[in-house]
Amino acid sequence: MAYDPNNVFAKILRGEIPCKKVHESRHSLAFHDINPLSPIHVLVIPKGAYVDFDDFSARASAEEQADYIKAIGDTARVVGAEKGGYRLLSNCGVNANQEVPHLHVHIFGGRLLGRMLKKDGE
Ligand code: 5GP
Repeated sequence: MAYDPNNVFAKILRGEIPCKKVHESRHSLAFHDINPLSPIHVLVIPKGAYVDFDDFSARASAEEQADYIKAIGDTARVVGAEKGGYRLLSNCGVNANQEVPHLHVHIFGGRLLGRMLKKDGE
């Protein structure tokens, strides 16, 4: 899929729409999800134009990839998610119901999060 520069996270990166910033590094930005699904729900995105994890892992430089991984862990600590534990989730493509076509990792925490997924047939 080609990158759409008009997606909402691209607009946040350009400062065209606001976000509640949590953390920023050279290649990554983290902010609170607008519609939180748990007491802690933060999104971490790369600043580069990558559609999803597949695109990022194939095309991003080693420096961008290292920065992004560190930014995810640093962000979790900024919001205190590591104290009780947290879940990372990144929806990639149609099967995963990805809504915003700019790579993002969700950090969920602040409560017991239950099982990962329903089993087939449940
Ligand atoms: P996805 O389903 O693509 O993994 O998740 C997209 C996430 O982006 C959703 O949790 C949604 O609430 C969040 N989101 C959508 N638009 C905005 C926005 O304008 N600002 C912020 N902070 N989050 C957004």
